[in-house]
Amino acid sequence: MTSTALEVRLASRPKGWPTEDNFEIAEVEIPTPGEGQILVRNVVMSVDPYMRGRMNDVKSYVPPFQVGKPLEGGAVGEVVASNAEGIAVGDNVLHGLGWREYAVLDAEHAVKVDPDVAPLGAYLGVLGMPGLTAYAGLLVTAEFKEGDTVFVSGAAGAVGQIVGQIARLKGAARVIGSAGSAEKVKYLTEELGFDAAFNYKDGPVAEQLAAAAPNGIDVYFDNVGGEHLEAAIDVLNVNGRITMCGAISQYNEAEKPAGPSNMIQILAKRLTLRGMLVGDHKALQQQFVSEVGAWIASGELKYSETVVEGGVRQAPSAFLGMLRGDNKGKMLVQF
Ligand code: NDP
Repeated sequence: MTSTALEVRLASRPKGWPTEDNFEIAEVEIPTPGEGQILVRNVVMSVDPYMRGRMNDVKSYVPPFQVGKPLEGGAVGEVVASNAEGIAVGDNVLHGLGWREYAVLDAEHAVKVDPDVAPLGAYLGVLGMPGLTAYAGLLVTAEFKEGDTVFVSGAAGAVGQIVGQIARLKGAARVIGSAGSAEKVKYLTEELGFDAAFNYKDGPVAEQLAAAAPNGIDVYFDNVGGEHLEAAIDVLNVNGRITMCGAISQYNEAEKPAGPSNMIQILAKRLTLRGMLVGDHKALQQQFVSEVGAWIASGELKYSETVVEGGVRQAPSAFLGMLRGDNKGKMLVQF
């Protein structure tokens, strides 16, 4: 085994849209695991929208990344050395130290995963954090019930593609999605069984959503914020619910965006607008994996991944590509 490996560090904090210059690739000594620790060779890592927030120097639900230090995030790798009971060399583990080729971590921060049950990348996507976000955000936060009409933005992404299909499988009256290209719109309606979908870049969201939802919507699963949220408030039915999962249209805005101008409708229509964090829903993990896993096995639920080859060197461009919408389904980096 070589004695050095690469990691990606935050070189500087982006202002507005990040660029390659905000990242730095560094060569470091491969660390040695101490008592109770394991050494993992990463095989696949995730790039996620929330990482953009961690690049800012602001207090949030996760601490900011530090300039000059390696980035962090979900990854799956193979254990190559172990000083921990219960984890052996050759095991595959899910953990939080992506953005580097090798990671040393306390065994308690690693979860064993089985490549015979699902491909390793799935533990970062459909069966991982984004999948649980979709499941909990729809069923718990939005209190989805059979017969609801559901609209999800960012619908062809990691979370969105699962939200729409769970809604369909749980008996939604109508499932509507928005995404940023004609190819993604086709994917939603022709492959994932959405009833309607539109490209938000084709024209005003309010007009396209109203046309897709002649009887209004009962649930809006918001991944995007801004114009999408305002349009959804306009078409929500009385007692409608909004899951505020993300606001990716605003993550690279240097100025704080204005809120929706039609908030008064929340009162008139008795709407519920509720924020959600996936970390609050760990108790649902088993139920989520068994239900969604069964739908995948039966072919009732499909998912896409966009896999960027080339390891950590390609991670910054994969991250930037994800923010621009290059991905269909979960964006992953393969080592
Ligand atoms: P995605 O896989 O959906 O990737 C991001 C997508 O955002 C891009 O592919 C792009 O698709 C879309 N996008 C980028 N800019 C815009 C824009 N201006 N307007 C509309 N869409 C845009 O990411 P995830 O599924 O991982 O995350 C989706 C959302 O969920 C994010 O907002 C994220 O922050 C949030 N999230 C929240 C969690 C929580 O606990 N609350 C947990 C996980 C995710 P397109 O081509 O369609 O533009």
